[in-house]
Amino acid sequence: MLANLIKKAFLKSLWVYHCNAGACNGCDIEILNVLTPYYDIERFGMKLVASPRHADVMLISGAVTRPTLPIVKKAYNAMPSPKLVFGIGSCAVGGGCWFDCYNVTGGADKAVPVNYYIPGCPPRPEAIIYGVALALGLVEKKVAPIELKQMEFPIDMYERNKAWEERNVIYKLIKD
Ligand code: SF4
Repeated sequence: MLANLIKKAFLKSLWVYHCNAGACNGCDIEILNVLTPYYDIERFGMKLVASPRHADVMLISGAVTRPTLPIVKKAYNAMPSPKLVFGIGSCAVGGGCWFDCYNVTGGADKAVPVNYYIPGCPPRPEAIIYGVALALGLVEKKVAPIELKQMEFPIDMYERNKAWEERNVIYKLIKD
């Protein structure tokens, strides 16, 4: 249901705002990673923006500490509708390892309505890209057909076993 609404509401490129709500920077590094040419999230038409006023999507990392709570709310209110919120990492899901700290509210949904969560501590860049693309209905468009995938990536058992044996020979030579 939500996926269908999203497909209709967000027809063009998505602009993403990243909000650090008290993260240890682990998740933030992985979010920045997805923007590098290696992971290249721009192939899905997404780009990072500096202001929530220009954003369609907010990525929240961190457990939402008490000082960041009003700032996260303010940033969310500044985003134009329709808008989506993703909680990135275990801290945003439910506080993570800080869940019972005195200054932690316990996750992104304590500040704003969250549409999707991508767990992990931190989630790998592939998981972030896959989660966002899946939620936005982009995966079906971009994934190669199954026949093509099988042609491109066969698992050759003979080659695999041969490589494993050669590895043991090399290891023995080094050891001797
Ligand atoms: S989920 Fe892990 S990496 Fe991400 S902010 Fe929390 S502690 Fe840091």
